[in-house]
Amino acid sequence: MYSNNETVLFLDGKFVKANESTTDLYSQTLHYGYGAFEGIRSYETKNGTKVFKAEEHYERLKKSCELVKIPFDCTVQELVQATYELLEKNNLKNAYIRPLVYCGQNMSLSKPTRVSVMIAAWDWGAYLGEKLLRLTVSSYCRPHPKSIHIEAKVCGHYVNSILATNEAKDNGFDEALLLDSDGFLAEGPGANLFFEKDGKLFTPQLGNILPGITRATVLELAEQLGLELHQGKFTREDLFQADSAFYCGTAAEVVGILSVDTYQFPKNWNDSLGKKLQDAYSLLVREPLKQLNLN
Ligand code: PMP
Repeated sequence: MYSNNETVLFLDGKFVKANESTTDLYSQTLHYGYGAFEGIRSYETKNGTKVFKAEEHYERLKKSCELVKIPFDCTVQELVQATYELLEKNNLKNAYIRPLVYCGQNMSLSKPTRVSVMIAAWDWGAYLGEKLLRLTVSSYCRPHPKSIHIEAKVCGHYVNSILATNEAKDNGFDEALLLDSDGFLAEGPGANLFFEKDGKLFTPQLGNILPGITRATVLELAEQLGLELHQGKFTREDLFQADSAFYCGTAAEVVGILSVDTYQFPKNWNDSLGKKLQDAYSLLVREPLKQLNLN
């Protein structure tokens, strides 16, 4: 699904065949989740394939590594360049790109001995599908920001996301919604949350969530649309009085939410601010040079 006999990966400065690549079973990343990764998308545009916000993603990868003290010896520019070459070598246009910084042999909890940078890419459709989502509030909360660096995209943090996703699916929902450790609305297992009330847009403030690059893009688009925006600490009760809501993330893009547990959002998705932002996002990623005409 992710690779075939022809698939090429970028690994430590070289392009290698995916099916000839191996990993170390004594890797610190494999045993302890001590690694960092990114999720990026490329789009076919009139001016060729464009990696959306490539620099921002590699800057976040660098920052994630710095926060958890994993040496990061590449430059953002060389990784952006490698990503374009990787897409070309694999003949990919609309692709999902997965950079991973992982540590080599070390079975102790000390500093990593060897660090590798890998980039893979594959064709991936809408991560959460195209339908409006039925969410459930998870029994798991997001990790406490004093236990880990929540703003870093670190491999081990995603056990929390996997637990929440599987719990939601086992209970018949499409996806989970996680609260933070103080009980305020946080985010999805792999996406940020927005909701609409009385024509205004609300989203949880930074601090207890991953600072999503799509979230930042949606905020920029909302500003261009002249929308009133509030970032703050919101409760589940705030959401249960909202008119509409959506998730956003690189893999998920902008996807509408139908309901959270037994609460169904009253506004028709097609009339919501989320739909406007979904259309604006879809245009922006595919026509990055076109002057946005949002009205
Ligand atoms: N929150 C979490 C926990 C995520 O894993 C992601 C996906 N990276 C997001 C939010 C959205 O981030 P981005 O828009 O940068 O993909």
